[in-house]
Amino acid sequence: MKKQVVVIGGGYAGAKTVKKLSLDPTVAITLIDQNRFHYLQAETHEFIAGITRLEDVVVDLEHFCQEAGANVTFRKAHVDAIEFDDNRIKIGDEYLGYDYLVIATGSTTCPGHQEPGRCPDLPPDL
Ligand SMILES: Cc1cc2nc3c(=O)[nH]c(=O)nc-3n(C[C@H](O)[C@H](O)[C@H](O)COP(=O)(O)OP(=O)(O)OC[C@H]3O[C@@H](n4cnc5c(N)ncnc54)[C@H](O)[C@@H]3O)c2cc1C
Repeated sequence: MKKQVVVIGGGYAGAKTVKKLSLDPTVAITLIDQNRFHYLQAETHEFIAGITRLEDVVVDLEHFCQEAGANVTFRKAHVDAIEFDDNRIKIGDEYLGYDYLVIATGSTTCPGHQEPGRCPDLPPDL
């Protein structure tokens, strides 16, 4: 049975991870992102300047996963929590188990936070 790999976040980090892992036939990968479309932020200035088209700076994650291989599926969902002890993530009322988990949820700035360490505005599990 294939190892179940769950990747949370379809940005640069998550997408690259999926692409690499998709070459391994022993794993089944589920990419989860709350948005179906990923915007290539580092290239948006070219779109704004009229040099490239919208489709050049937008990645349809559903399509990206289909192209990546039969062992890759995309799920549009917000991950609410990670239960590390039980190797599962929580999406609404549902749980999804994993053998390996990749957390590629990006980062947020924490303006006004003076002390180094955890941003107080972050949800407890992410
Ligand atoms: C305008 C702009 C220009 C930039 N230009 C450059 C540049 O030229 N060079 C450079 O190196 N960097 C640049 N950056 C920074 C670069 O875009 C980021 O470093 C990069 O996007 C981080 O990638 P990531 O995959 O870690 O996270 P992200 O791209 O933030 O992806 C995280 C993904 O996780 C998803 N996610 C988060 N939480 C959850 C959840 N709970 N459930 C489900 N999904 C979730 C989000 O929807 C998102 O799709 C730029 C940024 C901006 C805004």
